[in-house]
Amino acid sequence: MENEFKCEICGTIFQSHESLNQHTSAKHKELIKSERKPLNTKKIRNWIIFILVFVGFIWLVVYGISGTIKEDEFCASQSAAEMNIGSHTNLKNHIHQELEILIDGERQLIPSEIGISPGIMRPIHTHDSSGEVHVEGPCKRDFTLGDFFDVWVKEFDSTKIFDKTTQNGSLKMSVNGQESTEFRNLILKDHDRIKIEYISNK
Ligand SMILES: [Zn+2]
Ligand SMILES: [Zn+2]
Repeated sequence: MENEFKCEICGTIFQSHESLNQHTSAKHKELIKSERKPLNTKKIRNWIIFILVFVGFIWLVVYGISGTIKEDEFCASQSAAEMNIGSHTNLKNHIHQELEILIDGERQLIPSEIGISPGIMRPIHTHDSSGEVHVEGPCKRDFTLGDFFDVWVKEFDSTKIFDKTTQNGSLKMSVNGQESTEFRNLILKDHDRIKIEYISNK
């Protein structure tokens, strides 16, 4: 009883301390190794930090992409008269047209700041009264001449300009010198020179 040496791990009895040691190192090598090695907390902490950073990075990417998609969808689908681009930052679309409106030969004023009011900037607007129309926005998309009149809140289609209708006169439109029958549906392109002309019946 005195000289019994019991292996703590498997319970085998040995007669000498030496043989127990031999047994332990031979049979329970791995266990001893892992027992000897204290848990490397630094390594674990580094792994946790790495995983957190990685998960955070993935989250940002997914969130960023979905945010951009949402923003693009919004930009692509909103009507010009309801859309607020806010300012001139982050413009991916910036084109201009020249618009001229003649009624019985008289050039009509196209005011400055159409589509611009405190805190609001529509994707189609004017900055001066020269007739230059600005089409600007955070995404590439088409706008029509009708969109511009919607922003302006003025009447325009193939049968009328402002309060002038084709019942009492004729309405013609040209784009870059070529007669156009698109009227409201004309897609605004960069450098278009658009002329709308109404002549009253005599
Ligand atoms: Zn502009
Ligand atoms: Zn502008």
